[in-house]
Amino acid sequence: MNYRLITAVLIAASLQACSQQKPKSTDNNTKPTNTMDTTKHAGADKSNYRKLTPEEKYVIEDKGTEAPFTGQYEKTTSKGTYVCKRCGAALYRSSDKFDAHCGWPAFDDEIPGAVKRIPDADGSRTEIECANCGAHLGHVFTGEGFTSKNTRHCVNSISLVFVPADSTATKK
Ligand SMILES: [Zn+2]
Repeated sequence: MNYRLITAVLIAASLQACSQQKPKSTDNNTKPTNTMDTTKHAGADKSNYRKLTPEEKYVIEDKGTEAPFTGQYEKTTSKGTYVCKRCGAALYRSSDKFDAHCGWPAFDDEIPGAVKRIPDADGSRTEIECANCGAHLGHVFTGEGFTSKNTRHCVNSISLVFVPADSTATKK
């Protein structure tokens, strides 16, 4: 009987040691572990993330691309703000949207600090992500001469939610 007790104590001790040694391996759990841990991850609170459909997940998390001319906001011209579908951060203003006839919503500027640029591994394109949560948005191209800013953010509609200017929901 004593032997069994010792074994139990040993197991408990090793489990505890384990959990102390590798706190980083549990990044994906949604437990509010230590909210004081405000390291470099931009403070995105994953508990506020919108639940994504498989189609949304394919673009936003797996960096896929929606088919051209199929997106909800390709032709949208109403006044308002485009926010990140996953975390709700404001990304683009309707005043920066233009029709590039490319099949996806196009913007020649972003809300300052809202979009992160990441060069593709082969250097051919520059990926754009939500700076707050890292959601994939699309790609940014320069030097095409569409507008005076010479910049085109080619964004998947499915990565965005449009909030009309007359809505009070723009406040985050
Ligand atoms: Zn986001």
